[in-house]
Amino acid sequence: MPQTNNPPNQAGQHLLDQVRAQVLAEHQAQADALRQRSDYIPALDYFLDLLARPLSLEKMRAAIGRPVMEQLCNLAPYELFHAFGVHPVRMGCGCNSVQRLVASGNPVLMCPVMKSNLGMQRLHGQAGEEGAVRVVPTSCDWVVKYPEMARQDGRETHFLELPHSRQSEKGQQRWLEEIYGFAALLEKKTGKKLKRQRLLASIEAFMRAWRALQELADLRRRRLIPGIFFMVVANSFMLDAVEPWTEHLGQLLEEAASRRAAATGRGIFLAGSPIAFPNYKLPHLIEEAGMDVCADDLCTSERVLPGAVCYDDPSEHGLLRALSERYHRGCICPTFADNERRVNSILNTCRQNDIQGVVYHVLKGCHPCDIESVTMGETLKQHGYKFLRIETDFAKEDSQNLLTRLEAFGEIL
Ligand code: SF4
Ligand code: SF4
Repeated sequence: MPQTNNPPNQAGQHLLDQVRAQVLAEHQAQADALRQRSDYIPALDYFLDLLARPLSLEKMRAAIGRPVMEQLCNLAPYELFHAFGVHPVRMGCGCNSVQRLVASGNPVLMCPVMKSNLGMQRLHGQAGEEGAVRVVPTSCDWVVKYPEMARQDGRETHFLELPHSRQSEKGQQRWLEEIYGFAALLEKKTGKKLKRQRLLASIEAFMRAWRALQELADLRRRRLIPGIFFMVVANSFMLDAVEPWTEHLGQLLEEAASRRAAATGRGIFLAGSPIAFPNYKLPHLIEEAGMDVCADDLCTSERVLPGAVCYDDPSEHGLLRALSERYHRGCICPTFADNERRVNSILNTCRQNDIQGVVYHVLKGCHPCDIESVTMGETLKQHGYKFLRIETDFAKEDSQNLLTRLEAFGEIL
């Protein structure tokens, strides 16, 4: 597939049509599999409908009725976009079939999430309208190099330079400067000035979403909803405006509390690389092996909203500082140099919820998680927890092999 935005020739068009049909089928099959479960909760329909549409910025702009801005990971504050009336779309695609479109011209062992993002953009031919911006926090190398791989798509890139040391004052100050720079970019692109009251309202809107998600996480911890349903909800975050999403989550919470679609498997903690719809291979296999994910720290799941924004000073500067701290110091991305908090947080969650084992998911090509899995495994084992490292990608060929390993792991819990 040529990596330009020139119209495809006949063979190229045929490939696009073929892949489009496969992509739709892959999304639909996953949504159907979840809907057919006997423990399905009808209030999940809204979230599954959002996920079943292959990620398209154009369609999202039309559905939400606001300008959308692409961002490559969770680190750019959602509240800031929102305060300017812009909808941020986090690129985190789990589609396997679309990877065919980027099979050549890119590194072979490439982060599967970035490969699918790239494929999805090629599929939709999204060249980016006049002035379109891609927001790129400089977290891992694949994220940093994504604009280069998506060459000639006409988008302007705004890098948010991420200090990889969070504890140093210098790093925190630098990130605050990046947040100020980002606010300036949004002012320039939207022609609006940042208003303190708007920002405050946006912070409140996301706090409501975070509280509701936290409630759902609590239900999952108490095994009152299966882990995979939590993942469905979290994966759909920002596929609609935050207000209706939170409202629907409220309805789900009510329904879930009355129906109690309880999880039956032994509870485990899932850590490591993100899991994005429609690639639910691992969560399905975990269930098949008699376990259930009752807590995780994936940034496509429990960490999409990593906590409250805390501010004592409600001035514009105070709010920007609070956002800066929440997205920098509050984040446990494996790309940080000082990340002991991540393993401590897993240990605390396991202790508090009687979880005996941790499955660590490494996507082939995800170097930060690959590296971290070694030290993480050692520490968890020293504390008496069982640890299983699973390295995989979006393809299904290794399913039987993974299932055998997961079953053996389940037996020793
Ligand atoms: S793990 Fe790190 S790189 Fe990945 S989305 Fe989260 S913050 Fe971004
Ligand atoms: S942190 Fe891992 S999964 Fe996320 S973009 Fe980087 S390589 Fe991919």
